[in-house]
Amino acid sequence: MSSILEASTLVAPTAPVGDGAHGQELDAAIIAADHDRVFHSWSAQAHLPAFSVASGSGATLWNHAGERWLDFSSQLVNVNIGYQHPRVVAAIKQQADLLTTIAPATANLARAEAARRILAHAPATFEKVFFTNAGADANENAMRLARLYTGRDKIISRYRSYHGNTGAAVVATGDWRRIPNEYARGHVHVFGPYLYRSEFWATTPEEECARALHHLDRVIQMEGPDTIAGILLETVPGTAGILVPPPGYLAGVREIADRYGIVLICDEVMAGFGRTGTWFAFEQQNAIPDLVTFAKGVNSGYVPAGGVLLSSPVAHTFDERVFPGGLTYSGHPLAMAAIVATIEAMEDEQVVENAASVGATVIGPALAQLLADNPLVGDVRGTGLFWAAELVTDKATREPLPAGRMASIKAACLTRGLIATVVDNRVHVVPPCVITTDEARRGMAILAEVLTEEASR
Ligand code: PLP
Repeated sequence: MSSILEASTLVAPTAPVGDGAHGQELDAAIIAADHDRVFHSWSAQAHLPAFSVASGSGATLWNHAGERWLDFSSQLVNVNIGYQHPRVVAAIKQQADLLTTIAPATANLARAEAARRILAHAPATFEKVFFTNAGADANENAMRLARLYTGRDKIISRYRSYHGNTGAAVVATGDWRRIPNEYARGHVHVFGPYLYRSEFWATTPEEECARALHHLDRVIQMEGPDTIAGILLETVPGTAGILVPPPGYLAGVREIADRYGIVLICDEVMAGFGRTGTWFAFEQQNAIPDLVTFAKGVNSGYVPAGGVLLSSPVAHTFDERVFPGGLTYSGHPLAMAAIVATIEAMEDEQVVENAASVGATVIGPALAQLLADNPLVGDVRGTGLFWAAELVTDKATREPLPAGRMASIKAACLTRGLIATVVDNRVHVVPPCVITTDEARRGMAILAEVLTEEASR
């Protein structure tokens, strides 16, 4: 280990460590040590990004050298409450002093209170919460619940989706990550609505909605309705491009699920807990699912946690029958304390309302302006603080901007102090839900500058 690392404390500073040169040396040593020994997700290990973060506050992060970045990514779209929220940090410390761990079967105040706080924001049809460690295992357990409840086998999910990196969740996923991991059985995929690149030759949201629903119905009929346990969908597909569904789509899926006795599971791991400007995204779509999975924003990842909201009929199936599933850390007290404090702070500080308002008054209009002004911007879409700008080489052909140019855009944003999420040919604008109007304006101005520069190449 390099001596600068040995000499450094694990306690992150709120200001740069020593002078800038010392901080830079420390950042470089941390990156080198990380690349030497940490095996990274979804990456070729010889090509890892060089980024070190010391600490942060609100929507801002900084490294040891004192460089600061405005975060338009919320990391993996999970830090809805921003960095180092003092109430959440204090609650974790307080719970650590009281009880750091306890088995799931034991009743515990933090766990009971976390379930109560979550259910308070869900429709009255939901009665219980099964806690997991993250989003993938929430989806695993939701699929298991649907299968046990119906006695059926297959799960229908969508192309252009992500549901997590575990056995069935990754096979339910509808992007490239499924293909090298396809070991679970009983999964069927359908296309969902995406008007900009319609699979259905549609030209209006109404056509796209009707045809996507017709396609789903036809696939169910051809697969055999009695074989299908669940329809699993991201209420608003996130990683796939923030594909806000047309009005009527989720209600139509609900109607189809009811017609065939299929359990409707909404994956709100990314879309839930304020991201779309409401506590849950399905609230905006006139339909109530049977199961809802959540993680990320429930406590902004301060301590890993996820879970499944169970509607009463599904929950009561297991009153006398054993539920064959569990996790050592289900409802871990540190995660539960973080959930309670997060929800309390989000309520008191109107974080969800802030997401709706900054999205409607700053991000949405600024992206609409980019769509009008910049020849690279082919489509913009979103709600709350969940937005995407799709970049193309030609607005008529909609040819996606190539990866090299997208990488340049990401790097140019970073140089100007903005962390932007780039996925395929899109920039996702997904800042922490506590971002201020001024910060959002500043970030959008940087993005506009970078895209203008890129368009002039
Ligand atoms: N579902 C959705 C919609 C997600 O976006 C993600 C992660 O990005 C997951 C599930 C998996 O969550 P986790 O990485 O916490 O397992």
